[in-house]
Amino acid sequence: MRHVIIIGAGIVGLATAHHLLKEGVRVTVVDRDPEGDKASFGNAGGIAVTEVIPASVPGLFWKVPGWLLDPLGPLAIRPSHAPRLMPWLLRFASAGKPSEVKRIAAALAVLHARVYEDLLPLLAEHGLHEELQQFGALTVYEKAAAFDKDAAQWDLKRACGIEVHALNGNEVRDIEPALGPSITRGVFTPQWSHVKDPKVLVDKLRQSLVARGLSIQVGEVCGIHSGLESDTVSVSLSDGRRLLADKVVVAAGAWSGLLARCVGDKVLLESERGYNTTLPTPGVALSREVIFAERHFVATPLSCGLRIGGAAEFGGLHAPANFERSQALARLAGLYLPGLRTEGGTCWAGHRPATPDSLPVIGVSPRNANVIYAFGHGHLGLTQAATTGRLVSDIALGKPSLVDLAPYAISRFNSI
Ligand SMILES: Cc1cc2nc3c(=O)[nH]c(=O)nc-3n(C[C@H](O)[C@H](O)[C@H](O)COP(=O)(O)OP(=O)(O)OC[C@H]3O[C@@H](n4cnc5c(N)ncnc54)[C@H](O)[C@@H]3O)c2cc1C
Repeated sequence: MRHVIIIGAGIVGLATAHHLLKEGVRVTVVDRDPEGDKASFGNAGGIAVTEVIPASVPGLFWKVPGWLLDPLGPLAIRPSHAPRLMPWLLRFASAGKPSEVKRIAAALAVLHARVYEDLLPLLAEHGLHEELQQFGALTVYEKAAAFDKDAAQWDLKRACGIEVHALNGNEVRDIEPALGPSITRGVFTPQWSHVKDPKVLVDKLRQSLVARGLSIQVGEVCGIHSGLESDTVSVSLSDGRRLLADKVVVAAGAWSGLLARCVGDKVLLESERGYNTTLPTPGVALSREVIFAERHFVATPLSCGLRIGGAAEFGGLHAPANFERSQALARLAGLYLPGLRTEGGTCWAGHRPATPDSLPVIGVSPRNANVIYAFGHGHLGLTQAATTGRLVSDIALGKPSLVDLAPYAISRFNSI
């Protein structure tokens, strides 16, 4: 393998570059704004290896109307985008069948079982090991009934090899004293960790890769074509340039569906926009990421402040962000963290690249054997990046895969 082009300088593209460079491959990352804002910068920072349950689960659809009625609630669908979203929603509904949930959880667990094996050496090799905070995570509940309703999901996680410790309210506060009295139940998951600041991690990784020979080209990819020789491939940029390589990796986050389509592959990929507020002086301290199960938001203690985030907004890639959502999340957190100071917060929004079955797309294009897909990581792109990068590097180099790649193949969307 002489030269690989990776489209996208997010965490998935950079992790892939890391593995390929280690194998002695010449790597070029193309991004329209390599240092610009992206999902990989502003996320919650969780290495959420315990999250193997897909977003679509039995009974979820009954909750949707209530969520949609709340203008700043956990789920929003922009009316103008609703017709385009229908095929994705139908597939999302079928991913929530009990048999599908089990299959998807098993496929996510396979990836997550590898995460630390791939991530820890990556961090160490770039001097980033201190960015990882290994203190587990705490999922908290106000109502015992909500905790009981989630019991089947916790059992499925246990069956997937996830360590799970159920706690009462006082035990929760022993671990995180900042949580208020309304919390009556909790679950501690020690395998979860978080990074100090995802933007710092991505920036330092990019700089370290460049120091090791990564070439970064600024440009917007608008086409992927077979090369003149059958074992080459080229990408065309909107400024008229054409770059040639042996393989192209599509790691363009929520925009990857547009590129897959120009190769001729069908895929259901949506922007599931998330929001957060980062509070530089929150006035309360957490030691680990806390997931507020009933209200669908999280709080992560980062080096830049306490980041309160969540929300799933489906509005396509071009709708303007509604930062009232970020502010609403910070206000909501105040109900559970007495004394939380919400002044001076920085609001942020980013596009999660969401597939309807919560599985990423990893594998070779059926249309062009020199195109490899690495996108669709949804809520878990930071978690799965190092492992995706390892798997993609092996594909590019023709090595046997460390895992069965069938569940992640783009061909699962052939029937749409
Ligand atoms: C609010 C929120 C919280 C999250 N929390 C977590 C978490 O705690 N843990 C976790 O694991 N994940 C989390 N995620 C998900 C995670 O952030 C994403 O899955 C991940 O960042 C996706 O990375 P990526 O590299 O695929 O895409 P991105 O980071 O979006 O990068 C894609 C890059 O591709 C470039 N690009 C796109 N199209 C083109 C083109 N045509 N030509 C050139 N360049 C192009 C873009 O400029 C961009 O730089 C969260 C996401 C959000 C929004």
